[in-house]
This record gives sequence, C-alpha cells and structure tokens, in this order.
Amino acid sequence: MTEASSAVPEKSQGQADFIRFDDISKRFGKNVVLDDLSFSVGAGERVTLIGPSGSGKTTILRMLMTLLKPDSGTIKVGDDYLYHEERNGKLAAASEAHIRKVRGRITMVFQQYNLFPNMRVLRNVTEAPVHVLGKSKDEAEERAKELLEMVGLSDKVSSYPSQLSGGQQQRVAIARALAMEPDILLLDEVTSALDPELAAEVLDVLRDVAKSSDITMLCVTHAMKFARDVSNRVMMFDAGRIIEAAPPGEIFDSPKQERTQKFLQSVL
Ligand code: ADP
Repeated sequence: MTEASSAVPEKSQGQADFIRFDDISKRFGKNVVLDDLSFSVGAGERVTLIGPSGSGKTTILRMLMTLLKPDSGTIKVGDDYLYHEERNGKLAAASEAHIRKVRGRITMVFQQYNLFPNMRVLRNVTEAPVHVLGKSKDEAEERAKELLEMVGLSDKVSSYPSQLSGGQQQRVAIARALAMEPDILLLDEVTSALDPELAAEVLDVLRDVAKSSDITMLCVTHAMKFARDVSNRVMMFDAGRIIEAAPPGEIFDSPKQERTQKFLQSVL
C-alpha cells in the first residue's frame, strides 16, 4: 500500500478524508496503470498531481468522474462509496442513484474545453444548472453572469464559442463547471492546449477560485508555479504509485526522491 499523508488546510473545518482511495489498482491489458494506490484528500484541500506522462494521474480523475472503473479497491467521497470491494474480493459499483448523487458533487474541466458550439456563452453556462439541477432560467442566468464576471468575460455573454480565444473558451468552461456548485473541482491539464499568455489568464482565474472558495481541488498540471501558488499539497506520481507527497514548498525546494528531482529538473 502506498499511503500519502494528508494535511487538511487550516481554513478547512471539513472532513480530513473527504476523498478516499484505498488499495486501488487498474490495468489495461499488461499495463499496470495504478498499483494498489491509497491516498486521501481533505475537504477544502487543493492537491496537485504531478509526474511523467502515463504515470496514472488522469486515471485518478477519471475514476472520480466514474468515467473509468478500477479493477479492485475502494473509492469513497464523503460518506458515499463510488466503488467498493466486497468480502468475496469482487468489485461492486454503487447503485446508479447513488453514483448520480456523488457525481452531482464533482465536476471536471478538461484540456479541450468542449463547449456547445451552437450555444452562446451564457447558455453554455446555464444549460446544465437548468436541466440537471432544475434551477429556473432566471436564477441560472443570474448566477452565470456572476461567474462570467469572475472569469473576466462579462462582455462575451452573447458570443458564440468560435468567436472566443482558447483561453476565453477555457474560462467559460471553468464558469460552466462552477455553475454546477460542485464540492470538488477536477482540473485535467486545463492549460496544456494554450499559448503561455492565454494559459496565464486561465491560471489567474483558477487562483481566484482557489482563494475565494472552499472548493476541494484536484489538479493535474505541468504549470509548476501555479501548483506552488495554489496547492496545499503536491503528490508526485511515478508508474502508478505516489512516490512523494508534501506541501509545495517542500517538494519543489527539497524533493526527497531522486525520481522527483529528475522530473522537476525536466519541467522547470
Ligand atoms: P497521466 O495522466 O499521468 O499522463 P494516464 O492516467 O492518462 O497518465 O494514463 C496512464 C496509462 O494508462 C498510460 O500508459 C495510458 O496509455 C494508459 N491508458 C489510459 N487510458 C487508457 C485506455 N482507455 N485504454 C488503454 N490504456 C489506457
């Protein structure tokens, strides 16, 4: 078992093991992607997952989104199981209703923004709150306008995605994710497709989100300065295991593992 220690941020009064992975394994054919992995994340904590490409970081996020099922082990969010291992060693997925309830608390922003191309910016943000959360159109629009202001796009509410830059589209995607009022925000390489200047705009918005809310964040990124500014803890992945986990100051300034040192030299 690879146990990474969990520090709950001072500001969070929440549960210390709000998200919990226990003995999670996943393989694709002979490729062991996650190897008996255990860790927990406290409510309100902001954790960055770093490590070489293919080390299993995105797989973690996809499992939380129930886009991917582990082969064995247990995943819990709050008091609810997403997957759990039964006494006979078989993996049981939670019921559909149960998964919907947990899924309603988690949203993910991807590298590709995946906005609805035929809808204006405002409708991109209100669509799910109206159809999934059952909000009234007025209520959803009011909140969407606040969020679009927060991401610096008040003047683009009536634009179509194709009229926006990549950075602007990604900021709409962030507003859209937050409109679902999630407890947990998953960010998967959200700036990888962007030029540095546009990436910086997106990271500034995410810094504000992190500072102004108690949202629990799990973030896969190669933007190390952002990771340093925003995270409470950084977890270094290598070959499906967490080889080192520490507050950003510690891991970036004095990494203990040689593998972490080499990785950081390659990206910094
Ligand atoms: P990271 O996010 O650290 O780059 P991933 O979690 O995306 O790594 O991938 C881990 C490994 O799992 C990689 O070797 C990748 O090729 C493999 N993998 C991911 N998804 C699939 C899939 N659907 N089918 C087969 N292999 C996959």
